[in-house]
Amino acid sequence: MNYLNKKTIEDIDVKGKKVLVRCDFNVPLTDGAIVDDKRIRESIPTIKYLADNGAGIILCSHLGRPKDEESKKACTLAPVAARLSELMAKEVKFTTDIIGDEAHAMAAALNPGEIMLIENVRFYKEETKNDPDFAKALASLADIFVNDAFGTAHRAHASTAGVADYLPAVCGYLIQKEIAVMGNALADPKRPFVAILGGAKVSDKIGVITNLIDKVDTLIIGGAMAYTFNAARGWKIGDSKFEPDKVELAKEILAKAQAKGLKFLLPVDNVAADEFNVNANTKVFEHGIEDGWMGLDIGPKTQKIFADAVADAGTVIWNGPMGVSEMPPFAHGTIAVAKAIADSNSVSIIGGGDSAAAVEQLGFADKMTHISTGGGASLEFLEGLELPGIACLDDK
Ligand code: AMP
Repeated sequence: MNYLNKKTIEDIDVKGKKVLVRCDFNVPLTDGAIVDDKRIRESIPTIKYLADNGAGIILCSHLGRPKDEESKKACTLAPVAARLSELMAKEVKFTTDIIGDEAHAMAAALNPGEIMLIENVRFYKEETKNDPDFAKALASLADIFVNDAFGTAHRAHASTAGVADYLPAVCGYLIQKEIAVMGNALADPKRPFVAILGGAKVSDKIGVITNLIDKVDTLIIGGAMAYTFNAARGWKIGDSKFEPDKVELAKEILAKAQAKGLKFLLPVDNVAADEFNVNANTKVFEHGIEDGWMGLDIGPKTQKIFADAVADAGTVIWNGPMGVSEMPPFAHGTIAVAKAIADSNSVSIIGGGDSAAAVEQLGFADKMTHISTGGGASLEFLEGLELPGIACLDDK
């Protein structure tokens, strides 16, 4: 998929127009209080541009997974409106309405530069079904649709894709950057191009491996995924987590990589534990892992090999931890990889989810070219799949 030609907010005239902006305000809440306002802060450049250029702004988003009346209470966007108001030092009006008279009246009364937020679009089950009537009703609030929610761009929902059937549709700055950095990396990477994949399962990442194997110069595999590959090359993996039904597939990938002359790096040593526990006894194994032990992180030799492969990279894409990084004794491999990427001069792209969180916690965020704002969406982008929330936008 090539989305480099999609129109952005700077390609249309928004002056005096009502603009419906799909944001990703799916923030973590505890007892109604926002625990991390990162997603709200990240949405501001797009909102500010629209306000400065004379648009009346109608924001919408989902939050959580509201199912019934009770769970809806915990999924209201009211705290988001309050926080955005504080951050922008400007009133953000909030309505508990979504597509009814109150939302329409508030939208109609918006002056240029004014901002409102409607309630959680997932309060309507029609949202995730991409119901055309619901999408049309949402669209009728505005003259233009802006999608800036990359985290849900892989979903064809009413507010992420359906509305684009009824309005001119462009992307905001967040999606524009995702498209530019990841799109360019896939289409015309600075070489050597290195992909580092980790995490739990080969089956989750197989699409990415299949797409990237034709593009990268070096493919590095860590995490539990690596044990399926090490089993495929006949190594003992002890009690490590692996997918027996994916061993054949791993063999095929290894053979393909070899035929292509690709540098394919797997762990040569591992930190293993005698149980899946932060206080477990640990032992470093070179080559295979003995029975009774499970590999929970890459070992020191592997850390060095992976870091060396990254050091002179032109482009690095990283998705998934190298071990059980939630447990400090098994986070060293993930930290080493994050550090190596941060220290390199590469165009560095960090997929969302665990690897993005690791990079941020370690304080390396500023050293990365791009940290994707969407875990699932960035994976699908790297798989080369169509993202409905971007595909629906107008071309230049
Ligand atoms: P993913 O969501 O696919 O990126 O996988 C992340 C999860 O993989 C994390 O919860 C890690 O704890 C887990 N993981 C990574 N390496 C291992 C391993 N060696 N054994 C068990 N789980 C692992």
